[in-house]
This record gives sequence, structure tokens and C-alpha cells, in this order.
Amino acid sequence: MKFELTILGCGAAIPTSVRNCAAQVLNVLGRYFLIDCGEATQHQLRKFRIPYSKINHIFISHLHGDHFFGLIGLLSSLSMQNRKGEIHVYADKRLQDILEYQLKVLNTHLTFSLIFHSLSCQPELLYEDHALTVESFPLLHRHDAPVCGFLFREKERFRAINKEMTDAWNVPVSFLQYLKKGEDFVTDEGQLVANSRLTMDAPPPRSYAYMTDTLYREKFAAFVENVDLLYHEATYGKEYENLAQETCHSTAEQAALLAKKAGVKSLILGHFSTRYPDPSCLLPEAVAIFPNTSICTDGDIFSVSLTKSNDKK
Ligand SMILES: [Zn+2]
Repeated sequence: MKFELTILGCGAAIPTSVRNCAAQVLNVLGRYFLIDCGEATQHQLRKFRIPYSKINHIFISHLHGDHFFGLIGLLSSLSMQNRKGEIHVYADKRLQDILEYQLKVLNTHLTFSLIFHSLSCQPELLYEDHALTVESFPLLHRHDAPVCGFLFREKERFRAINKEMTDAWNVPVSFLQYLKKGEDFVTDEGQLVANSRLTMDAPPPRSYAYMTDTLYREKFAAFVENVDLLYHEATYGKEYENLAQETCHSTAEQAALLAKKAGVKSLILGHFSTRYPDPSCLLPEAVAIFPNTSICTDGDIFSVSLTKSNDKK
């Protein structure tokens, strides 16, 4: 029942010897979603032992190089490995033109179908299956690059069977599916057994939101309200607030303000400028506002575990 984020790159525009450009993988119940694909992301996928052949959906937040320069390399390698399963790319429409041109010049025919989904960077449902949804929402960066945030959210689960009780009431296996949906049980003798005696509340759905390159705007909190895990860029510390404003980025303090306003459960800071060899110096200003904040490094894994319904805050 995994809901697990692996950081592949938490650097900003220029990679360092310890920080790759933006990329991460979210594993939700065995589905692997790649979020951004900075240069050398395929190296990071190998290094951190992600089963990248299982990635079917790739979400690119915006068209700055530190978020997509690794895509053509990854796609080329997958094709050389004779991949067959289709890959869906969700990105600015111009990326489709770029990829098509690159493939044409390379005279490369991918071994798999590449299905392109243009992002409007408005609140929009991008993906849905029986277990989760992925939505986009707008952020604010430079005018040449509309930026999307992404929200991954599990769907409500069915009620959990209390096996001890269903055995005690001799509930047939064929009826369990109805119990999960909330129906009461009636015995052969006509006695009604309330559903609440035979089942338990399902764990609440888990959620993750990705907020990359953006200016701080309080209104963005509404898009990520109450998520379990929020990744927010913190390119600079508050000592460079003017620079953050000029370059359309956020400070660690602003990321924490957003997390607090949105009522999220935990915050990860990333997308660090090269001026911070050790970005842990950014932590105090964020923790002062939002205590449950972490600094990430490449290779870090953040898990959201299932909790009981009544544990939900
Ligand atoms: Zn960036």
C-alpha cells in the first residue's frame, strides 16, 4: 500500500556535484509517476533503483531546461531497450514540437507510443483510474513559461471487512463486496446486522502536491489544502527575498507560509540555488512558521502511511 516519493533531483537551474536538476518519482500503489525530468534524470533513476520501465506517465511542470532536458535521453534509452508500453507525457504543447523535432533529426522511431497531453495550467483533471486522480493547477513563474503544479490524490476506499465479525455472523464470501459498499447484512433467520458491526472505516485517502518554480501567492494555498505531503520550491532564503521576487521564485519562509495557510501535514523544501552548498541553513526560517518541514537531498524517500480514519487531523 505504498505512497512514496523519491527525490531524484532537488537542485535549481544548474546541477551541482550533489544535486541534480528537478525530477522525482511518486509510487502510488505500484504506479510510478515521473514528475519533471531534468538533465540526467535517467542516471538518477538507475542510481536510486527505481524500476523505470514501470513509468507510464510523465508530468512536466514547465519548459525551463532544468525541468525537461532529461526527457529526450530517457525516451531514447527506453526505445533502445525495446520498450513497448505506451508513455503519456503531460506538458506544455511546445514540448511536443521539441520532441518531434529531436526525434526527426535523430532519425529515431520510438518502439513505443508516445501520447502527448497539452497542459492548460488551469485546474484540470489530467489522469484518473480506480485508485487515484492527478490534477493540475496554475503557479506563477516567468511569462515565457506557464507553470503547473500537480496534485496526486487517492480516491476514497471501500469499508474494511472486520473478519472476526463476518466469520461470527457467518456472512457468505459473496456478500463481502456489498458490505464494503456499506450495506447491512440480513441473516437466514431474518435478523438485520448493521454494517458498522461488520466493517471498519477505511483509512483516509492520501495526497501529495508538487509546487515547483513559482512566486509566492497566498491564493495558491487553496489548490493544496490539507494535503499530506507538499513539495514546495525554496530556491532562496529570506535574505534573498528581492532576488526571489526578481527571478520569480520563492523563499523557504514563503514556502512555509503557504504550507501553513493550506493546512498541509508536512512540507518538503527543494529546488535549491547553487549558492547553498548545504541547504539545511534554510530550515530554521521555515520551521519557525511551519514546524513539520524537511530539507531534501537527492535520493531521499518520503512515505505517507495509511492511518486510521479517526487519526485524521
Ligand atoms: Zn527550475
